[in-house]
Amino acid sequence: MQILDGKIAAAAVKENLKKEVDILLAQNRRAPHLAVILVGNNGASETYVASKQKNCHEIGFISTLIRLDENVSEEGLLSEIKKLNEDASVDGILVQLPLPKHISEKKVIESINPNKDVDGFHPVSAGNLVLGIPTFIPATPYGIMLMLEHYNIPTKGKHAVVIGRSNIVGRPMSILLSSNLPHGNCTVTICHSHTPNLEEICAQGDIVVAALGKPGFVKANMVKDGAVIIDVGITRIEDATKKKGFRISGDVDFEEVAPKSSYITPVPGGVGLMTIAGLLKNTLVAYKKAEGIEA
Ligand code: NAD
Repeated sequence: MQILDGKIAAAAVKENLKKEVDILLAQNRRAPHLAVILVGNNGASETYVASKQKNCHEIGFISTLIRLDENVSEEGLLSEIKKLNEDASVDGILVQLPLPKHISEKKVIESINPNKDVDGFHPVSAGNLVLGIPTFIPATPYGIMLMLEHYNIPTKGKHAVVIGRSNIVGRPMSILLSSNLPHGNCTVTICHSHTPNLEEICAQGDIVVAALGKPGFVKANMVKDGAVIIDVGITRIEDATKKKGFRISGDVDFEEVAPKSSYITPVPGGVGLMTIAGLLKNTLVAYKKAEGIEA
């Protein structure tokens, strides 16, 4: 069993991005710029946003954080997005989800200029992904593809089982793994909350991507020997023994499953770090498009 280490793979992606930024700056060009909107102060969202900002700064990107009150109106948020859409110094716009209940996520996602949609959630990006047209890929599935690439995991002709069908993880993951890409060309089964016999299906997977948000869901009896296990889940579980009062759990029972796997991502330290790498890569693509630089 080998650990797919998000720290190592993300560092490699970031190192290449930093080199590119250094060259751009040496050519007296502006730095790529990501704008992040955070509504309210959800603890997990605060952590994610802080990490995105830190990573931007590490590789020489500009990162602007726009904080809006929990009670901001939908119109108020949409007007902030409009400003960023029109601001030529901003390459990528990310609205941290989830949003408060009174705001429509759909409306917000659709209001972002598709050329700045570095989260890849806009219908234009999703449509392009399905059609195999180069586009912004949602950061988490993109990060997983980068992880497979970094560790050169063979995927062609393999059976991949994806658990979860959300628009941000499971669905785009299933499309990427089935696409004609260097780390695609899998035969994909996508499972969800209405899938009968999930355990048997999962046990047929050469590659299993668990993205359902149920801590420890994937057990040893659900995986075949030598499977590649990608654990996307991030759930906070109360734990008084921890300084923060909680621990993070993935969707895979790591202790049970790791010995049976050929490769496995840990949680934390796996997919989460790759998600940020995917976001940074998308932001550089948006910048190059805006500046008319060939990708
Ligand atoms: P979601 O709630 O939008 O979707 C969960 C999906 O899992 C649904 O499609 C549902 O049908 C399926 N599901 C739920 N229960 C199931 C069951 N018992 N059996 C089979 N399928 C079931 O969640 P999401 O936004 O896709 O996130 C999934 C998990 O990944 C969460 O823990 C989330 O925190 C985590 N996540 C991690 C990252 C990262 O960077 N590592 C990024 C995004 C999400």
